[in-house]
Amino acid sequence: MFRSIVAAVLASSWLGIAGCSGDTKSAKEHHPLVVVGFDGMEWKVAAPLIRAGRMPHLKALIERGSAGYLYTEKPALSPVCWTSIATGMRKGEHGIDNFLDASGTPYTSAQRRTKAIWNIASDYGLKTLCVGWWVTWPAEEIDGWMIAPYSTAGQNAFNWKGSVRKDLPDQTWPRELFDEIVPIVEDVRASGRLKAVAADYFHVPPRVELDAVEKNLMLQTLWSIEADEIYLRVVKHMQARPDVKPDLTLTYFGCTDVVSHRFWRYMEPASFRYSIPADKVAEFQDAIAKSYEQADRILGEVLAGAPQDANVIVCSDHGFHAEFIDAPRDDGLSGHHLDGPPGIVAMAGPDVTAGFGQAAILEGKGDIEDAGFIYDVTPMALALLGVPTARDMQSHDGGPLMKRMVKKERREVAKGDSVRSHDDGFRKAASHGPSVDKSVVEDANRALAELGYLGITSDDEEERTRPPAKKKPAGETKQPPAPTSTPTGGESKN
Ligand SMILES: [Zn+2]
Repeated sequence: MFRSIVAAVLASSWLGIAGCSGDTKSAKEHHPLVVVGFDGMEWKVAAPLIRAGRMPHLKALIERGSAGYLYTEKPALSPVCWTSIATGMRKGEHGIDNFLDASGTPYTSAQRRTKAIWNIASDYGLKTLCVGWWVTWPAEEIDGWMIAPYSTAGQNAFNWKGSVRKDLPDQTWPRELFDEIVPIVEDVRASGRLKAVAADYFHVPPRVELDAVEKNLMLQTLWSIEADEIYLRVVKHMQARPDVKPDLTLTYFGCTDVVSHRFWRYMEPASFRYSIPADKVAEFQDAIAKSYEQADRILGEVLAGAPQDANVIVCSDHGFHAEFIDAPRDDGLSGHHLDGPPGIVAMAGPDVTAGFGQAAILEGKGDIEDAGFIYDVTPMALALLGVPTARDMQSHDGGPLMKRMVKKERREVAKGDSVRSHDDGFRKAASHGPSVDKSVVEDANRALAELGYLGITSDDEEERTRPPAKKKPAGETKQPPAPTSTPTGGESKN
């Protein structure tokens, strides 16, 4: 059933601006939209698993919809790409150009120069539920609900993916929502659920003797398994609240990226120029596939709680491949994506074209189709929500993605429905984020060490609780290493 927006929103901030007399902004009728983001999901891994019946929810989605490659930014860095996905802008416009800003502090939502889709949706009276999305802390005051992750600068040493912090303010909107979230975080740890999920990725206890590097790869992965499990539980909690009926749901899960960085050489040993011991290959060869199965379970659970008539977008920010180097890296990482391999997009729903790209993925016939660009997602999503696109976005007409994946009838409705910009009257971007208490920064390393309770621990306490890495010189954060070189620092880990 279409949602019709009865209450038009009075855009008070526009009233004083050049000739915008009597402005009310309201969305046209639309179906709810659900976006499920999986960091670093790659068709080379997903398509064979779909055909083998190991990703039934993604398979079912594609069977009733369309799918293809989603081209991305280069270098492909998570905060940059996910902000592009949520704004329809490139990094030069939205201003989030790396993990850390020039002061060596993680970028925050206050530093984003352009509106994100949740701001625009709010302008048009639409409610957004946004959970775990990159660079959303501090949670913005939106019409809806936001649960914003935080990633500390010190996390560079093990895993950039953000999580919920007990002592950090402004992780939710509305603010009081945080009190509902804390018990979920505690329960994920207490319930044994995490242990079961971890045991699905790895052999616990390990069947072979592992060195310190390998134990760290597992421990760093647990961090993301935990974060994903928390955010899934939060999404389900919000979906179960009868008063939460979002027009737009945005969710992000990071583990597919984290596992791919750490276990690629065991999955695809022949792609590496150095040899990988056979017993280690046997131990870890299925870890990436397991994380994709886990992602599929997450997708199934998110969609089970979403309205049946929702349009659904599943996407990743980039793809993945083996890192072509002559010798193993000291940190053991072996999957790579800085050179921007295309990610995935799959869509289904009442406004989505059926059949585009199905044969290659579902039957292995022919090449996987090119669907569009990460910048196409927001303008296409706005069109699906009955909101005008903006002509200052990279592809204001939704680009190739909209043309290939959205039904003609819906495209006709959206045709010509655009404004010059959605950013008029938007607050000025902060030059740096709010300062974060030192205890919060230290909490990341402590929390990682605590994950040792799962029984996957490093021999060396030092390894588990490595101090924050040295602050990078300001210039370096803006110049990621060239593709296919051996990158240093956090960029390569996420
Ligand atoms: Zn990554």
